[in-house]
Amino acid sequence: KPADPTKGIFSKSINKKWTSFEQFDGYKEIEFMEKGGKTLGINSPFFKTHDGIASATSRINGKDYINFSSYNYLGFGGHPEVIKASQDALERYGTTVSASRMVSGERTVQQSLEKEIANLYQVDDALTFVSGHATNVSVIGYLFGPKDLILHDSLAHNSILQGAQLSGAKRIPFRHNDWQHLEDLLSGNRSNFERVLVVIEGLYSMDGDIPDLEKFVEIKKRHHAFLMVDEAHSMGVLGNTGRGIAEHLDIDFKSIDIWMGTLSKSFASCGGYIAGEHALIKHLRHYAPGFLYSVGIAPPLAAASLKSIKLMNNQPERVKRLQSRGELFLRLAKEAGIDTGKSEGYSVIPAMAGSSKKAVELSNIMFDAGINVQPILRPAVEDKAARLRFFISSEHTDVQITTTIQTLSTALNDLK
Ligand code: PMP
Repeated sequence: KPADPTKGIFSKSINKKWTSFEQFDGYKEIEFMEKGGKTLGINSPFFKTHDGIASATSRINGKDYINFSSYNYLGFGGHPEVIKASQDALERYGTTVSASRMVSGERTVQQSLEKEIANLYQVDDALTFVSGHATNVSVIGYLFGPKDLILHDSLAHNSILQGAQLSGAKRIPFRHNDWQHLEDLLSGNRSNFERVLVVIEGLYSMDGDIPDLEKFVEIKKRHHAFLMVDEAHSMGVLGNTGRGIAEHLDIDFKSIDIWMGTLSKSFASCGGYIAGEHALIKHLRHYAPGFLYSVGIAPPLAAASLKSIKLMNNQPERVKRLQSRGELFLRLAKEAGIDTGKSEGYSVIPAMAGSSKKAVELSNIMFDAGINVQPILRPAVEDKAARLRFFISSEHTDVQITTTIQTLSTALNDLK
């Protein structure tokens, strides 16, 4: 397994006779796992083919399943008004802008989307990229360099680690959500570096827990560091009107230097964004490699996200519904004695399985019972922390949630 999650899997010995991709260690590992699964009679729960719109339910191999495997948090993926807005943009602008925006020019739908994102955060401006992953890699990788220090939560997303690696800055993870550890690292290291970036997430994608943002803001101010918050799983999810962790904890949006998020989850499309002060966005618009040397966001996708944000702003009850779905799921799971780890409900709720093998078996039992939920296995988490991970949507009904908890509780008891 890769000791460094920003790298592939490499063996220690040097073998110069590379002739085939079958010799690559990562590939051999996949083959080994597949063979092991077959011997044990366990089907792979991954790469299922869905047909139609994946929301609270999804059609897989001609059968409808209750679905917990899509980040369609507010049900906008497939919403008729979102589809209509996307179709209109498709007819007006076509499928693609075919080049970087600096070259191919701007489309009003891209600009309106960025204005709407900046409004959500009450900051000067925003910029969109063609993928959330690429946003983190490109922005962190471009803005920081070898004289800098990047401190990130130990459970931060792969794209954050990749960006830090690319930047050439010194990278140190601090213990998950542990601001005291961050404080200690800053006290010991701050003076050796020019700029310091602290990166956290608004809601953690594996565990469904949230950081004490106020503490992180206070620490970053005291140590003259920049604070970046990735809101992939908290935008559209937290706060009375869905505007994320700062709204949820009543913290001034401007205390965070770099707001980052994706368009693929609450906002029904594909892409990533950065929001912040004028100088940050202007700089990235002219120089961030993932923006400058990559195609502009496709108009039908920009239109889908723009419509989703407008719908969220006009229908805060949808956000409340998502929050109540998360609350119900978490309460019923706890009442049934299911270990949901540190999850606070909202959009992500894990169910601990005890091992990778058990998590796969559990996922397959759930699937046979008509519920689609994916396992998270080693190396994404430690083997003993393997789990099923439920993504909650505002569209899940009481009956779907109750049925799921009953099925899960029985399956967990049967597996013991
Ligand atoms: N950041 C976090 C915290 C994520 O969980 C993800 C994807 N799940 C990304 C960034 C990348 O976003 P996208 O899938 O939209 O590229």
